Amino acid sequence: MTPSIVDLSVAVHDGHCRWAIERVLARSYEAGDTHQATQMTMSFHSFTHMDSPKHFDRDGFTTTEITPEMTIGPAAVIDLPGESNRAITAADMDASGADVYPDDIAILRTKWDQQRSVKELNFWTNAPYLEADACRWLYDKGIKAIAYDFPQDYCIRDYATGARMPEWKENTSHIELLLKGVIMFEYLCNMGAIQSKRPLFVGLPIKVEDSDGAPARCVVFDQEQPAPV
Ligand SMILES: [Zn+2]
Repeated sequence: MTPSIVDLSVAVHDGHCRWAIERVLARSYEAGDTHQATQMTMSFHSFTHMDSPKHFDRDGFTTTEITPEMTIGPAAVIDLPGESNRAITAADMDASGADVYPDDIAILRTKWDQQRSVKELNFWTNAPYLEADACRWLYDKGIKAIAYDFPQDYCIRDYATGARMPEWKENTSHIELLLKGVIMFEYLCNMGAIQSKRPLFVGLPIKVEDSDGAPARCVVFDQEQPAPV
């Protein structure tokens, strides 16, 4: 049977509280053109997207080096407390009971998007977040990539509000995971629809050369993948 496909991507849309996009019709039927064609300007770190290590490391590798093998594969769904301002620790990782194997893609599921709308500021300002020991727990499992349904670093709330520019070292998951070569997918949604504990994750960033990141479509094929032997 063909497994169901769960779309985990936030649609790029106008009117978001954090990100402005500029979207225009460069060609339009209304203007008398023979066809319609859209042009858009947006941050590569808005909506659902992938980070490459270059994002936080001047000498880090870029999207050019990131192959589909690095962003597609069996995934471990890790259920975590989706409570306001909750620090998620290594103990929470243990308590999840998730089996995580080397080269897995970790899907961190808090279902925070079911409590707050990603379009509104309190999604960003009250979110649960990762402590460094939780990141190290994941790194020690040997994961190759990770996906989050919440703004995973505490300081992201300050980027969102513009209250201050956080220091480099405050970007916990970026330092503890991305800089060590774990590819990150940020700001996913709809993880509550995943039934499997071990689905097949498919992260498809648009193919941009030499970038610190790229917008991405992320889905899972919702069928249990075998654990490695
Ligand atoms: Zn990013």
